[in-house]
Amino acid sequence: MSPNDPADRPPFLATRAVHAGNDVDPGTGAIRRPIVAANSYALPEDPSELDWSGTGTRLYTRNGGANQAWLEDKLAALEDPSGVSEGGCAAVALASGVAALHAVLFTFLRTGDHVVSSDVTYVATHRLLTELLPDRYGITATLVDSSDPEAVRAAIRPETRLVHVETPANPTTRITDVDAVAAVAHEHGALLSVDATFATPVLQRPLERGADLVVHSLTKYVNGHGDAMGGAVLGRRELVDRIRADAMVDAGGVISPFNAWLIMRGSVTLPMRMRAHCDSALQLARFLEGRPEVAWVAYPGLASHPQHELAGRTLDGGFGGMLAFALDGPPELQNRFVANLRIITSAVSLGHDESLIVHVGAGSDGRAAHFPPEFRRYGHLRFSVGLEDPRDLLADLEQALAALTR
Ligand SMILES: *Cc1c(COP(=O)(O)O)cnc(C)c1O
Repeated sequence: MSPNDPADRPPFLATRAVHAGNDVDPGTGAIRRPIVAANSYALPEDPSELDWSGTGTRLYTRNGGANQAWLEDKLAALEDPSGVSEGGCAAVALASGVAALHAVLFTFLRTGDHVVSSDVTYVATHRLLTELLPDRYGITATLVDSSDPEAVRAAIRPETRLVHVETPANPTTRITDVDAVAAVAHEHGALLSVDATFATPVLQRPLERGADLVVHSLTKYVNGHGDAMGGAVLGRRELVDRIRADAMVDAGGVISPFNAWLIMRGSVTLPMRMRAHCDSALQLARFLEGRPEVAWVAYPGLASHPQHELAGRTLDGGFGGMLAFALDGPPELQNRFVANLRIITSAVSLGHDESLIVHVGAGSDGRAAHFPPEFRRYGHLRFSVGLEDPRDLLADLEQALAALTR
């Protein structure tokens, strides 16, 4: 048999994106899985011994529904080619990316525990770690620049149970070396969770690099069409099963069947979409960096990015579709620029088909104290480069810059 015989290896990522989790529907013969909207499933003849908080028997959609399970099969297969096979990783799909982040913290931490986290993370993660968990549950966190593994090491205490990093970080695009931080976490018996929403499994699979848990906001690139919210946690089955039992069934953050179905459909094109996002973002980052009106650009694909070399070594085939920049002028100038744009839409969220930009003021974000100084001068523009033709996006940026001087 040739080493390239598909029987000898798992299918490549783009093939898994098409096929994993899909099958012929036995009820109708349809070659695509249907939306199973029912809240309840037929009980076995003797249900009297069932655990109503259990996840082993399909009984109620909050304990696990059919569309959720098919989506989880696909997500596990994207992260790990051995997928749902024995020893491979498992996935749990939840209502949103934040529900997934909360599920990790809720499941693996208790009063008195300590977390070391990236000082730049998604805004809800920041608030959970700095306000909600310490105030309500006595769980504390130390925030460090996780691009420096020694800073992570220095922050670890005997009661540190979890290290959480976000890479590339939202919105600074800072890169953390997952292999190095995993080694530090494991030396001290802590779990490492990685929010890999910006990278998606196409650019990085942190479990391969030693992470214990990966969190994705499916709302972003994995769905990719800006029309459904979801989140996921992936990792070894015993860890994911604990999340399912504790955070999903009894805290209730389950994904809806319709959203699971939409995300399943959107994810089919994830590998090709990520290629287009990466190619266009690099072109636009270079264009912006060359413009005199632009004060700075943060994009891991630029040689000026502080972790450009690490990003090139640890991200596969591109640097992502997210960049941040600022014009050289006051917040009012940033607003005028955004107002001049005709194709790129001013809105939050990211990873959609359409390009989105948001002006985040220097003082409007609780995390801003940890942003690099250039982010704190005039605020910044976070730019999610979409799937439009990059020539149109470039022309849109160009005309919006030109209109500033009129
Ligand atoms: C958007 C986002 C989240 C939160 O996801 P939701 O689906 O909006 O709850 C978490 N992490 C990162 C990096 C994100 O960009």
